[in-house]
Amino acid sequence: MSQPDRNDLSIIPMASPNFDCRRYRKVVAIVLHGTGSNDGLEQLTRLRNPASRASVHYLVERDGQIYQLVADKDRAWHAGPCRLHGRVIDMDEHSIGIAVVGDGREDPAYTRAQYDSLRDLVSMLMEEYGTIPPRNVVRHRDVAVGRGDGPSTGFDFDLVIHEVVERRQTKAEAPNDLTASEQAASQAGMELPPGAS
Ligand SMILES: [Zn+2]
Repeated sequence: MSQPDRNDLSIIPMASPNFDCRRYRKVVAIVLHGTGSNDGLEQLTRLRNPASRASVHYLVERDGQIYQLVADKDRAWHAGPCRLHGRVIDMDEHSIGIAVVGDGREDPAYTRAQYDSLRDLVSMLMEEYGTIPPRNVVRHRDVAVGRGDGPSTGFDFDLVIHEVVERRQTKAEAPNDLTASEQAASQAGMELPPGAS
């Protein structure tokens, strides 16, 4: 399988105001979020409403369409403080957030088109950054210090990860995680984001 690049993906911009600036510019993780509903339009509306104080970088609709709400270089408010491999970090600062539309109650819970788009998107981001190891592609609920969600029951997380890893297996291992000083700086500067979902 080949590595997709940004031009291979169809990404529709749908700007959200719910972000601020990254202070460190080092992205080491991708966090997957659930939506609790199959209504992608409703989710887009919520995540673009200033009152929600919540956003993600990307949303993957039921039909596989990818929407971009916040630029990768900016700090979307999606995850809040998280524990990554035992260390608490300001996850919004150091990650890309992706919401996958679905409530888990439809059959299939997530569509083939969504898995295809998600794999392309995750592969592309890992390729662009070179600092996101496969083990740092996580579900929000698996890392959140407080409340965290993630794609619902029925989401085949392993399918996405295995295929992404397979695509990358011939690549040199990416540098990963934060250095001790980056970790300390991140933790010291950590603020509770206004609307981590
Ligand atoms: Zn979440």
